[in-house]
Amino acid sequence: MQVVTNPNRSPVFRLITIAASGLGSFVLGLWGLKYGFGTNVAGIPIGLASGIVASLCALAAGLAALSFFAGVDESANYVYKETHYDKLTGLLARTAMVGKIAEAAARTLKTGQPMFLIDVDIDRFKQINDAIGYSQGDQLILAFASRLKACLPEGVTVGRIGAGEFAVLYPDNRALASMESVAELLIEKLMEPYQLTTHLQSVNLSVGIVAMPKDGNDPVQLLRRSNLALQNARAAGVGNWSVFHPDMGQVADYRQWIESELHNAFERGDFDLHYQPQLDLLSGKIVGYEALIRWKHPERGMIPPMEFIPIAEETGMIVPIGRWVLRKACTDAAHLPEDCFVAVNISPVQFMAKDFIGIVQDVIKTTGMKPQRLELEVTETAMMQDRERAAAILKQLTDMGLSVAVDDFGTGYSNLSYLIDFSFQKLKIDRSFVSRMETDSSSGAVVSTIVGLSRALGVHTIAEGVETESQATLLRAAGCQVVQGYLFGKPAPLAIRGGEATPGYRAPAKVAAAGGTVH
Ligand code: C2E
Ligand code: CA
Ligand code: CA
Repeated sequence: MQVVTNPNRSPVFRLITIAASGLGSFVLGLWGLKYGFGTNVAGIPIGLASGIVASLCALAAGLAALSFFAGVDESANYVYKETHYDKLTGLLARTAMVGKIAEAAARTLKTGQPMFLIDVDIDRFKQINDAIGYSQGDQLILAFASRLKACLPEGVTVGRIGAGEFAVLYPDNRALASMESVAELLIEKLMEPYQLTTHLQSVNLSVGIVAMPKDGNDPVQLLRRSNLALQNARAAGVGNWSVFHPDMGQVADYRQWIESELHNAFERGDFDLHYQPQLDLLSGKIVGYEALIRWKHPERGMIPPMEFIPIAEETGMIVPIGRWVLRKACTDAAHLPEDCFVAVNISPVQFMAKDFIGIVQDVIKTTGMKPQRLELEVTETAMMQDRERAAAILKQLTDMGLSVAVDDFGTGYSNLSYLIDFSFQKLKIDRSFVSRMETDSSSGAVVSTIVGLSRALGVHTIAEGVETESQATLLRAAGCQVVQGYLFGKPAPLAIRGGEATPGYRAPAKVAAAGGTVH
């Protein structure tokens, strides 16, 4: 940490103040004696007595002044330290960082030497902090901050501007490294897991960048813009960075609107669940339905989940929403065929929330849902946050008789070693592989590898996003067992007719048309 000095008062100024106090006391004491006792005090000549008393007065006054100013200095130092430096990391605090950005912006205008402001934010830090506890949360921030500093050249200004948010002032100096490589390096290094006292913690990261003076010179506006770029990067997925663009303002307004509307929407009952069938490729029968949330806003109409789920995750609204989804899906299950299971998407925030297992148990109990009919779709990202805890949760779910599917498989961490530690029953091959299968042979190879892997692990496979007959044929050839996609049925509301519910799907004849055998 930097040494803290008081910027307002020099030592010379302090000496002059003390000398003036001493002199003032002396004159005052002399005048007091003379006025009160005349020429003699207890046999001592007034000259001597006044000298002694006045010197004592001067000394006392001097000491008082000294202690007074030292006290003032201490409090000034304290206040300065409190407001300028972040207590936990020793980095510059937000207000001080605003000052540094202002200085840097002014300098860029004067010298013409551009500068970047980089905003680095741990995704969903609040939720991580709640889940792992504040003391481990502090450990994580400390480790993160020191790793961040280690990634940057000496002398680069770094501040902590939010709970899990950091700002960096980086000179636009290609001799050091290009902005792209700095952003990539930060993401790569800072996303490596952190060893905390009790476990290994993974984090996701988003990075936003603004250029000075191009994108402005007002520090508050620059911070807002770097944050807009950051939000944009976050919306694009895990571990992304982006550079500010003026259009981002509109996107931010929309996000703000969603954030403010989510709570009302929940209270108002805007949400509903649609169900998309999952078919067994061999028999052509529907074996399950995936519950997918729908938000119908009274004025704006349908708002896609990809637009509001990430915001609900950031604000924590996903916890009540997710609980509602789980309860509704388990209630709706009574209106779906007995031999079909219901798959429910579980957000990483829900999955890591302290009482997740308790909520699942409560929902199962109160809705009378058979655990064997419930499948939870959990992403790799959720499992990787805190591997030990995730492994324990997955084990508990399996012990309860539930099925767990690893959703979006293949899009997250390519590190497959963790799979061995986790208990789950299904790998869900991501749509991105399925959609490229026909044109890109490596996607086909990935699918075959995933199927092979799942066999080795003794779990099932399901492919999502199947839109064409030829994709179905290729999946069948690769040995995939269950499929889901527009080819077989789009997500549809639960239509209850005399106790029978049949969300729309296409006839199993389509499956037969795909030909081939399932292994
Ligand atoms: P996901 O879990 O990967 O869900 C599959 C998405 O792909 C759904 O989008 C579905 O409508 C769409 N889809 C299905 N078949 C096809 C196809 O053949 N082609 C194409 N192009 N798309 C297909 P949707 O409903 O918009 O949901 C998007 C994402 O939002 C989901 O991705 C999931 O991550 C999230 N989500 C949806 N409902 C919930 C929920 O209840 N809770 C949570 N936590 N997340 C949800
Ligand atoms: Ca899913
Ligand atoms: Ca997916």
